[in-house]
Amino acid sequence: MKILFYDTKSYDKDSFEAAVQKLDSTEIEIEFIKSDLDPRTAALAEGCDAVCAFVSSNVGAKTLDILHNKGVRLVLMRCAGFNNVDLIKAEECGIRIMRVPGYSPEAVAEHAIALALACNRRLYKAYNKVRENDFSLSGLMGINFNGKTAGIIGTGKIGAAMCRICRGFGMKVIAYDVYQNPALKDFVEYVSLDELLAQSDLISLHCPLMDSTYHLINIDTIKKMKDGVILVNTSRGALVKTDDLVDGIRMHKFAGVGLDVYEEETKNVFEDRSDEILEHSTTARLLSFPNVMITSHQGFFTKEALTAIAETTLENALHYIAGKPSPNDVNQSSL
Ligand code: NAD
Repeated sequence: MKILFYDTKSYDKDSFEAAVQKLDSTEIEIEFIKSDLDPRTAALAEGCDAVCAFVSSNVGAKTLDILHNKGVRLVLMRCAGFNNVDLIKAEECGIRIMRVPGYSPEAVAEHAIALALACNRRLYKAYNKVRENDFSLSGLMGINFNGKTAGIIGTGKIGAAMCRICRGFGMKVIAYDVYQNPALKDFVEYVSLDELLAQSDLISLHCPLMDSTYHLINIDTIKKMKDGVILVNTSRGALVKTDDLVDGIRMHKFAGVGLDVYEEETKNVFEDRSDEILEHSTTARLLSFPNVMITSHQGFFTKEALTAIAETTLENALHYIAGKPSPNDVNQSSL
C-alpha cells in the first residue's frame, strides 16, 4: 500500500519511520510531503492507495471527489477528531475513513491542567516580569484549586483523564455529558449543563465538535458562569463562539482563559501575518487580553502520543489491507 502523507513535520516523519521499521512489513510505503491536503493538493495522491491527513487538512467534498478520481480509497486521519471530514461524501465515494481515538488522553488532559494553572497563577506574566528584572508580585495573585469545583464538559477518554487530575488536586469534580462514564461514578457527580456553568470555578471542554456542540460556549452560557471562572478549551475552537468570549472577557467574567484550539486555526492567521488578516482576526483580539493564554494545538504533542499515533495509524492501514473492520473506522466504506 502506498500512502501519501500530507502536512509532514519533521517529528511526524521520525515517528512514522520508526513505526514502519518496528512493524517490519513490506506492505506499507509512505511518501511524505509538506503540503497539507486540500482541493488544490489532492491530485498529488495519484497512484496512491491512501492518504494520511490531520486536523488541519481539508477533507471536504471537493477534496474527496478528487481523491476518489485519483484512485484513493482510504483516508488515515492521524488524530482523534474528524469534524473536518465530509463523511456523507466519503460514503458516496466509497472512501474509508479511519482515525486514532484516545492515543494518549493524558497528554491532552495534562496540557489542559497546565493551561488552567498557568492562567490561574499568571505564569506567563510572572515569567516575563522576572526576565525584565521585576520581582514584585503585583498582578500575580491566583486561587487555590484545592477545595474548588472543576466542571468537565465531555467525559470520554480525555475528559475522564482531566477528572482524575482535578480530583488529584483536591477539587470537587462535576461533569456534563450526554452519556455518563461508569468509570467515574465514585468521584464525579453528573449535573445539567446549567448547573455545571453555575457551580464551576474551572470549566474544561472535552467534547467533540458536532452540530450539537458548535458554539456551546456563547454569550448565554457565559452569562450563566460564575464571575472569576477559568475556562480551558483543548478540544476544538468552534466549541466557543469567539466574539462572545471577547464580550465575556470585557465583562470581566473570567479570571483566565486558556485555549489550545481556536476558531481560526485552519485559516493560518499567524502564518500569513498580513496586517489585514491580523486586524480582522478574532484570535489576535483574544491575545490582546492579559488574562488569555493561547497555545497552538499542542495538547497531543508528547513523545508517547506521537509514537501511539504512528503505530495505530499503521495498524489501521493493515486492517484496511486485510479487509477487516476496525473500532477505529469512522465510516464503513469499502469493507
Ligand atoms: P471521546 O470520544 O472519548 O469523548 C468525547 C465525549 O464527549 C464523550 O463522552 C461524548 O459522550 C461527549 N459528548 C458528545 N456530545 C456531547 C455534548 N453535546 N455535550 C457534552 N458531551 C458530549 O473523545 P476524546 O478522545 O476524549 O477527545 C475529546 C476531544 O478532544 C476530541 O473530539 C478532539 O476534538 C479533542 N482533541 C484535542 C487534542 C489536542 O491536541 N488539543 C488532541 C486530541 C483530541
